[in-house]
Formats: sequence, structure tokens, C-alpha cells
Amino acid sequence: MTMDKYVYLDHSATTYVKGEVLEKMLPYFTQKFGNASSIYSIGRESKKAVEESRDQVAKALNCNAKEVFFTASGTEADNWAVKGVAFANREKGNHIITTAIEHHAVLHTCQYLEKEGFDVTYLPVDEYGLVSLEQLKKAITDKTILISIMFANNEIGTIQPIEEIGKIAKEKGIYFHTDAVQAVGNVPIDLQKLNIDLLSLSSHKFYGPKGVGALFIRKGVKLHTFVQGGAQEKGRRAGTENVAGIVGLGAAIELAVNDLEKHNNKISALRDRLIKEVMDRIPYTRLNGHPTQRLPGNANFSFEFIEGESLLLMLDMKGIAGSSGSACTSGSLDPSHVLLSIGLPHEIAHGSLRLTFGDENTQEDVDYVMEVLPPIVERLREMSPLYEEVKRGVKNV
Ligand SMILES: *Cc1c(COP(=O)(O)O)cnc(C)c1O
Repeated sequence: MTMDKYVYLDHSATTYVKGEVLEKMLPYFTQKFGNASSIYSIGRESKKAVEESRDQVAKALNCNAKEVFFTASGTEADNWAVKGVAFANREKGNHIITTAIEHHAVLHTCQYLEKEGFDVTYLPVDEYGLVSLEQLKKAITDKTILISIMFANNEIGTIQPIEEIGKIAKEKGIYFHTDAVQAVGNVPIDLQKLNIDLLSLSSHKFYGPKGVGALFIRKGVKLHTFVQGGAQEKGRRAGTENVAGIVGLGAAIELAVNDLEKHNNKISALRDRLIKEVMDRIPYTRLNGHPTQRLPGNANFSFEFIEGESLLLMLDMKGIAGSSGSACTSGSLDPSHVLLSIGLPHEIAHGSLRLTFGDENTQEDVDYVMEVLPPIVERLREMSPLYEEVKRGVKNV
């Protein structure tokens, strides 16, 4: 397919792999292919590369390298944290607190644990997607063993009060896990300052390869082994290491954290301009998420009287990649659980569009979106009988 223009605005779904990251990975597919558990030189070389990457992660998050464990994805890190703590601390209690807006990697894991006899509280969020610290405190019982609250939401971009949540968890002696998959590379994270016990991250959300993630496990945290087998990852997550992937993750997190401020300034300026122009130029539009406590690259809108899926297809024909809800829920007709949780009625949640900026985006990309999006929204609305009535003044909204 040839396209004059291709504007990728779905960086919360995944990012491309940066050239310098790919370059560091490549030798580990070919001449440096040794198994990191082997004792001959190319094995030791792989082992060294894995440990270097572990150091890069530790440095990026300000923790000890011994507290970093590689996984096959952000989803796996979430599963490990939540199930690992639940099953290892069952004699202490069976209560878990999470939120209604978690990624499915946490949400579906909690639902599975309910079938296994655990009690789960799903904290509601306010209209901006924020949890209430008061409600969190009230939900805690003497059976609570884990609080799992995401750092930043993948759909609406809302950033939670992680520092305060960590303090509450610490005060009560409850483990605190955070899914920081969207936060790493977008929000500064200092694990010496934050009372986080477990933190999940995923390489392909910060310009590294897909299929590799990590779980930070603070020293002393009691949790079960997730994958039984060999002695890899100190026997806690078995399986021959994805050396090239791990090398890519390390290189990518180092770049992401070093460039964080520059990256944030750039993409938040693009996001702010887009939000302003969309809100100014397209009537019957709502901005979802928090006005300021949000990821630098995230814009999420609901356009009344239209279907998000049709909008996505029409944008795609014009070379713009965005998403409605999240990638994991596209393809299903249910509106996003996150948009329903912030109180959107079904029909408005259905007309949502998430555009997420990244490193390669430019002012011209915003201009192009503003050239293409308003007429598409208008054309789709013209197919809506309800919109016709509103325009003729028969009906108020
Ligand atoms: C992408 C994402 C995940 C899943 O990570 P994968 O590496 O794609 O499995 C989990 N949580 C959040 C918030 C995400 O955005």
C-alpha cells in the first residue's frame, strides 16, 4: 500500500524500536547467540549482556539490580506480581485491592483469583479517572495482602497519586504493586523515594522490542515463583533468557530515562495543541482523563453521535493510526471499562478516540490531524438521526 502520509498516533499501544536499540540487539541473534547459562565464552558473553541490562534498569528506576527480574511481557510481570503475592501470602489474608480501570493484565488476573477464593475490591474512580485515597483507606481490612494500582492509565492517561498510595500501603504493612507499563519513559520514577514493592514494565512501550518486560521486586517481598524450571532469574522465573530482547530493553530504558525531560516537553506540547484545537473546532466533544495529571503524550476524546470504530477506519484511510478504547478491547463491541468507570454513558463511550504521541511526531502531524479529523467527524455525524435533530434544534443535549 502506498500512502502519501502516515501519522502514527498510537504510542500507548506500542512503539517502534529505536535504531540505536536495534543495533545493540542484532549481534545477539547471530554471532553472540550463546545461552546465558552456558559456561563457555559466548555463553558468558550473553550472561554479561543480561546483567548489564539489569544494571541499566536498576539505574533508570533507582533500585538494586538484584531487585530486577526479566519477564516475557508487561502482562507476565503483572500476572506474576498479583498471583505471586496472592498465593505466597494466603495464610496472612485473602483480600486484594485494585481499581476498576486497571489494564486487563491485572483486572483479569484479579477475576481469576476471585475464582480461587480471594476477595477483590475494585475501587471506583472519579470523572477524571483518579482513585480516592479515602476510599482506599476504607477498603483496607486486616485480611488485605496486596494493593495493585496502576501508575498511569493506558486509555485516558490519568496518573495516580502513587506516592500517597505507597505511604498508605507501607503504614498498614500491605504490599503495593503498580503497573507502570505506561509510566516508564514518560514519568520520572525513583524507587528509593516511592514506597512501591512491585513494579511492572514493558520494553515495547518505550521504543524497545516487544515480548520482553521486567518486574521490580523489592528485597524481602514474599512472592511465589512464576515459571518453574531452570535456575534463570535466580530460579524465580525459569526459561532461557531472551538475550537480544533483554539487551534491547536495557538500551531502551536507558535512552528513555536520559531523554525523559526533552521527550516530555516535546510530546506534551504537541498533545496540548491537539487538545486545544480539537476542543475549539469540534463541537459536542469531551476530553477524557485528567486535565493536568496525565501522561505527556495522551489525548482521549469522546465525540458525541458517532462510532469510534468507524472513525478509526476513516482515519486509517487517511493514514492516521489511532485507537478507540485500548488495542486489547478493539474488536469487541463492548465499550471500554475505563470510559464507563469515569461515568461516560455507553453511547458516548462508543464515540471515543485515543491519540498518543511519541518521539517521531511533529507539529505537521497535528496540522494534518486537524485537516482530516473535523470533516470526518462531521461526515459521520451526518449519518446520525439524533445529530440531525440536535442541529435542527428539535432536541437538546
Ligand atoms: C501494554 C500494557 C500492558 C501489557 O504489556 P505487554 O508487554 O504488551 O504484555 C500492561 N499494562 C499496561 C498499562 C499497558 O499499557
